[in-house]
Order: sequence, then C-alpha cells, then structure tokens
Amino acid sequence: MVLPIKLDEYDVSIMKSLFNDGRKSFRQISRETGITTPTVKARFQRLVNVGFIKSVTPIVDLQKIEKNISISELQAVDQKQFQKKIRKGVKIMLNCDFCQGSVAGNPHVLKFANYERFFCCSSCKSEYKKKYGARIEALEKRAASLNQ
Ligand SMILES: [Zn+2]
Repeated sequence: MVLPIKLDEYDVSIMKSLFNDGRKSFRQISRETGITTPTVKARFQRLVNVGFIKSVTPIVDLQKIEKNISISELQAVDQKQFQKKIRKGVKIMLNCDFCQGSVAGNPHVLKFANYERFFCCSSCKSEYKKKYGARIEALEKRAASLNQ
C-alpha cells in the first residue's frame, strides 16, 4: 500500500486533539494547537479523504446505563458490542447539574443556546439559573448572532 501523504506535526496535533474529544470544532482545535482554522479544516478533510480518519464516533460511559444489564454482562461488553445494544428506551443515569445528586424520575431540563442542563428538582434548576444567569445570557446572545 502506498500512502499518498506522510503525517506531519500538524496532522499529529490535530489527531491528538480529536482523540481527546472528537466533538471539537475546527476553531477549537485551532485555538488549542495554534494551527489556523482553514489549515485545521484542510488537514482534517485530507485525513478523511485518504481514509485515515474513518469516522468520528462517540465513546460512551458504560457505567451510566440503567442497571437492567447484569454486571458481568456489562464487563463483557466493549464499545463495539455496546453500540449494538443501544436502542430506543435505554435510560441513561443522570446527576443533577447543580447539586450533583442523582436524578430520580424525569429530570428538570434547562435549554439555552446549544446546551442542555439537567436537574433533580425545580429549585436546583432555578438556583442554577440564578448563579449562571449572566453566562447563560451571554451564550444565548452569541448563539443568536452566529445564527444570523
Ligand atoms: Zn439537584
């Protein structure tokens, strides 16, 4: 097999950045690596085009799944097998984004900009809003201006 490209330090920095978190935007990778955004985009595209980056897939925390799967079964499943088990109705356990307690029943959800936060009760939700109100407002303003 002949490789059409040789990875350089740019490619490697971009790959390393994505290994930590594949959800990052090109701009975030740029900020992190010091490589310009157009270069990050071009290098990523090239690594995809040559088939080196085959896909960007989420890695899930198996501990967070509802315990209707036995522990031994849970230990036996790796990420690949787990992907087959993902189906409608599987519940993911949540911790309250304010008090960190576990959320029993339906969470109280707060949505702003591209974010979603989950709370165990309405008072945690309103306390969170009080505490981070300015930040939430700023994020919403920014999201609105980006959508224009
Ligand atoms: Zn709470």
